[in-house]
Amino acid sequence: MKVDLLTIFPEFFSGPLDSSILKRAIQSEKVRINLVNIRDFARDKHKTTDDVPFGGGGGMVMMIEPLYHALESVVEKKQEKIIMTSAWGRRFSQDMAKELSTLKHLVLICGHYKGVDQRIKELFPMEEVSIGDYVLSGGEFASLVMLDAVVRLIPGVLGNFESAVTDSFYEGILGYPQYTRPAEFMGLKVPEVLLSGDHQKVRLWRKKQALKMTFITRPDLLEQKELSEEDRKLLKEI
Ligand code: SAM
Repeated sequence: MKVDLLTIFPEFFSGPLDSSILKRAIQSEKVRINLVNIRDFARDKHKTTDDVPFGGGGGMVMMIEPLYHALESVVEKKQEKIIMTSAWGRRFSQDMAKELSTLKHLVLICGHYKGVDQRIKELFPMEEVSIGDYVLSGGEFASLVMLDAVVRLIPGVLGNFESAVTDSFYEGILGYPQYTRPAEFMGLKVPEVLLSGDHQKVRLWRKKQALKMTFITRPDLLEQKELSEEDRKLLKEI
């Protein structure tokens, strides 16, 4: 997958793209990330990318021209998916991450200040996506959140894909609790079933815990999920 990240702060990404799963995905060439500095497309000698809003009021607005030319430089066949990070957008979710992980080319635009000149959305087809009901100072944070969630779902990025499948939201419910060595610490023991070596019992225990956690903290997820016979039985026991 190729990802173009359009930003006025490319340096923001140097740490995150050089760590953990994102680093591994880039090194293994499962993902190619092209950082595009919108400032490079400003036409004046000061490399201006923002201006005061028409109509007055506080703050600055990202100008249309540099962003237009930056987009023009990356959009090849008008087949790429362009996402504008925005508090107005459709709420980002695991389902959206799954959908995006199948793309060949994704373009992420990081807004800043009061946002971007509205007219850019008329010149390029794009979807606005929000990572939650709060306002960030820049789309760089939102882009990184989405990128991390998407990239780990690209086959071959995680050492063990099963690990992603059993995470929260993948199957519409929360994940199950995790334990590792030592089996006992300060009198706290790991649940016996996890040491039993009985795979079927472990699977059922984990599913029950996942359903229980979801029932307690996110019952709304259960209302949306198509429950299997086994899910119903375990929920009854809970
Ligand atoms: N004036 C805008 C509004 O009322 O929604 C807020 C602009 S915000 C300070 C600057 C930039 O941060 C936005 O253009 C967007 O790129 C990004 N941003 C802020 N909140 C976001 C959110 N919840 N999800 C995704 N991006 C967000």
